[in-house]
Amino acid sequence: MLRYFPVCLFIVLTQLSGVAEATAYPHAEPELQALAEAPSQTQLRATITQLVSFGTRHTLSSATSDTRGIGAARRWVKSRFEAISRECGGCLEIVTPSQIVTGERIPTPTEVMDIVAIKRGSEDPAPRKIGRVIVMSGHLDSRVTDIMNSHSDAPGADDDGSGVAALIEAARLLSKQPNKATVVFAALSGEEQGLYGGKVLADYAVAQGWQVEADLNNDIIGNSRGMNGVFDSTTVRVFSEGTKSNETLQQAAYRRYHGGEVDSPSRNLARYMATLANDYLPDLRVRMIYRTDRFGRGGDQVEFLKAGFPAVRVTESHEDYHHQHQDLRTENGVRYGDTLAGIDFRYLSRVTALNTITMAALSRAPAPPTDVAIKGAVSDDTTVSWHKVPGAAGYRVHWRDTTAPRWQYARTVGDVDHAVLKNVVIDDWFFGVSSVSSDGFESPVVFPGFSGSFERSPPATASH
Ligand SMILES: [Zn+2]
Repeated sequence: MLRYFPVCLFIVLTQLSGVAEATAYPHAEPELQALAEAPSQTQLRATITQLVSFGTRHTLSSATSDTRGIGAARRWVKSRFEAISRECGGCLEIVTPSQIVTGERIPTPTEVMDIVAIKRGSEDPAPRKIGRVIVMSGHLDSRVTDIMNSHSDAPGADDDGSGVAALIEAARLLSKQPNKATVVFAALSGEEQGLYGGKVLADYAVAQGWQVEADLNNDIIGNSRGMNGVFDSTTVRVFSEGTKSNETLQQAAYRRYHGGEVDSPSRNLARYMATLANDYLPDLRVRMIYRTDRFGRGGDQVEFLKAGFPAVRVTESHEDYHHQHQDLRTENGVRYGDTLAGIDFRYLSRVTALNTITMAALSRAPAPPTDVAIKGAVSDDTTVSWHKVPGAAGYRVHWRDTTAPRWQYARTVGDVDHAVLKNVVIDDWFFGVSSVSSDGFESPVVFPGFSGSFERSPPATASH
């Protein structure tokens, strides 16, 4: 839940529960609503048209030509970020983290370089070190049928010109918006050769000490017509892992006994996006997919997950495999290849809107609460506790049936570090907590056991 109960409703709830008096947060709706309608199909089309014009953007293609190959494409993306920055008084810092990589699909040492625009949050004015970071990513490189073919035309309009166009458009729109946490827009390279650009950026984030609260990785988001002819321009898939990639043994033991198989920070980020879509995008629904990625396949978000950062993959609902990783050709009347003709720009603008409002909401919300814990075994009441975070004016306690996919109930509490839910039996529900800013922006929900310690949780053997 990202919008707030009418004041009268939560006063009633507050009185019923006896929790601390709730703050009447103003609605955040108008700002997010305006952003939801802002992405420009013209801008998105111009970006993908330009990217396709580089012929191929294969990771092993020319780094030096001004007209063809990955180098020309990287320099063009950098110039776009610079142009956006000029329009906002130099609000973007552009960095190009890179690594020299050799691997199964990169036979000779090759520089894999990401083009990254950083809009510093108001929480961390220069020259202070950047703390909280929200990332949106997509990959610039493209391919044809033979993964090692770096010379044939590989337009990569959808995979992943669409993701790069979306993040440039989001950067343009959000460059004019306030943000407390830092927002980062990253055009990655080397995805098709082995997720190298994701690793380059994740390594860079760790080295910089960034506290990455989300990576929205957009890969293949512009096509609305499936290979089987199904047309669907109103849904998008958000893939998220169920349990943390870097879960500790202690966390795993807690989860096995108390639940949490479907409540990783990434999964709760996916829920956050689904709720935002419900609230602000009447023409787009999020299909939460309970998987890290599509079956047997991967994306750059995986490198963020390995580093312990919450991350999701955003992908169109119906892929057309004739248009992915294919040599340009026509065979038996079927046209193969990832060309501009396969992009539905209206649909792409809606998926871009989902990203833009998610970036805006996350970057204006406080950090999620830490050390979330629950207790209340053998009791009619459940106590939910957490550690307060800077910038939060209050907190919201959420709960749901243990089999429900989305948070069902929420109670807004004030600037406190615990709440007692009267007559809510701990055994029967899953619980979580989010933090809320004074201007009404909410963090994702944190499930107990996924941040900090558990010493305030009941031990597994407390009762039976
Ligand atoms: Zn891709």
